[in-house]
Amino acid sequence: MKTVKYIRVVLSVAVLALLATVIALGGGDEAAHYLLTVDVAMFSLGACIAWLIITLLLGRVYCSTVCPMGVLQDIAAWLAKRLGHRGKGFYRFQPGDWRLRGIIALLVIISATGDSRTRDVALYSDPYSLVVMSSGWYVGLLGMLAALMITVAIMVIAWRTGRTFCNTICPVGTALGAVSQFSLMQLDINPDLCVGCGACEQECKSSCVNAMQHTIDHSRCVMCMNCAAVCPNDAIKYRVGKHRLTTPLLRRATTATGMAKQEP
Ligand code: SF4
Ligand code: SF4
Ligand code: SF4
Repeated sequence: MKTVKYIRVVLSVAVLALLATVIALGGGDEAAHYLLTVDVAMFSLGACIAWLIITLLLGRVYCSTVCPMGVLQDIAAWLAKRLGHRGKGFYRFQPGDWRLRGIIALLVIISATGDSRTRDVALYSDPYSLVVMSSGWYVGLLGMLAALMITVAIMVIAWRTGRTFCNTICPVGTALGAVSQFSLMQLDINPDLCVGCGACEQECKSSCVNAMQHTIDHSRCVMCMNCAAVCPNDAIKYRVGKHRLTTPLLRRATTATGMAKQEP
């Protein structure tokens, strides 16, 4: 799975470089038709439906390879590790909070459909718009500075806590997360192979791996593949469905204690 992670990283950096070039050449509007934005002026229903279908099939690959804000956060988290701000084993599982995500997403939707003043609230919480506005492409100096400050703040949060913005505030992430929890392909921990080292949980910048219970919150998983890449026993696979324990006694015990959800 290490190779898959490296391919994902190379792809994400290439997409970010391509997008930066397109925006610098004045093509931010055209790029918006292939990406997700809550900006009503640039929103594309076709792109939205296409990405929801892709997410339903593959999980939140958008958040690991295509979203410019996601890649910037990954760079910040990677730098924090490289520069010694955090060592190995920094992250811990945290239960997700759908209420907070839902309320923020609802507020953004209401703002996006309001007048020009309320639409600004939506714009400054939208990852694509923030990146485009940070380049100063279609806002004045003040707008550019505000977008830049928010983008830097998101990167500081990523430096300190990983993908907190993605799984708390980002309205696009909330929409994709609502779909990805039911996605066809998902990362799955094989309890038969797991040796309980906890490395996957400690490397998950979405804090969505519960190594003890062998579960992953797929609504928050951004498909970075970090967990699978660090697993010493290759116990984490990207697959359709969940692995069934091979030992019937162990299967009954874990089901009874709620340690692992099994197929019927
Ligand atoms: S959650 Fe939002 S900011 Fe994070 S990667 Fe996904 S779309 Fe981008
Ligand atoms: S890294 Fe692999 S072996 Fe270690 S706890 Fe996670 S799944 Fe189990
Ligand atoms: S569960 Fe794995 S792939 Fe998903 S966000 Fe966490 S580390 Fe990345």
